[in-house]
Amino acid sequence: MRGLTHEFARADQAPLRVLEGLDFAVRPGEFTAIIGPSGSGKSTLFNLVAGLDRPTSGVIYVDGRAVTGHSEQVAYMPQKDLLFPWRTIEDNAALGLEVQGTAKRAARAAVRPLFPEFGLDGFERSYPAQLSGGMRQRAALLRTVAMQRSVLLLDEPFGALDSLTRTQMQLWLAQMWQRHSWTVLLVTHDIREAVFLADSVHVLTSRPGRLAARVVVDLPRPRTTQTFLQPEFARLEQQVLSALGTTSDVP
Ligand code: ADP
Ligand code: MG
Repeated sequence: MRGLTHEFARADQAPLRVLEGLDFAVRPGEFTAIIGPSGSGKSTLFNLVAGLDRPTSGVIYVDGRAVTGHSEQVAYMPQKDLLFPWRTIEDNAALGLEVQGTAKRAARAAVRPLFPEFGLDGFERSYPAQLSGGMRQRAALLRTVAMQRSVLLLDEPFGALDSLTRTQMQLWLAQMWQRHSWTVLLVTHDIREAVFLADSVHVLTSRPGRLAARVVVDLPRPRTTQTFLQPEFARLEQQVLSALGTTSDVP
């Protein structure tokens, strides 16, 4: 991202500036977390990276190509994930591929082998309401991953889960990322989650979102429950917290 600034037009008022002068780069295979106060433009940033909206100024490059419209290189799991309640898990999982133009039968065949890894084996024909929250999020992630795009955008994927499920999902995602070498941008409100999962944490200021800090997380991999106990882990959490703390005008 180069000099990325975004404003929303408003009636009878100056435009609302949401992102300002963002510059940062993510390497292929890197896990990057983005953390910032509510309203700092994190979801807006993802909409821009996915090409669903055009930045007011600045450029986003994915694999060296400027994003100018709906991006074919990016798979996006939005904050409010939509599993369709009337579709089975298998049909929900196949939806991303179907939208890309894959025939229904082929799309189902492509997603089916992923079910065991996503802990969804045997639930292919279940409906979303029959699954736990963690399983639903894994199904949504499966749909995103199945699209085989080079970059995954995950907007607070575990935000609505209880804390135990959330920790389990973090451990699981760390393993999956390591196995598949995905390039991930993850938006989260959770400092612990950001430090645990990421290679680098980008901290945004409150609106308009600017880059307050980039914290490099050099904790060893694989990350496990032991990772949470390392003194270095606490030090990094503190570093992110103080970067966030200096950004908010509200106590
Ligand atoms: P975050 O995800 O960091 O909580 P968002 O990117 O969702 O923040 O929103 C940033 C700001 O932009 C908020 O103040 C929000 O009200 C505003 N906003 C988001 N989308 C739109 C839109 N489509 N039109 C106008 N304002 C918007
Ligand atoms: Mg958001």
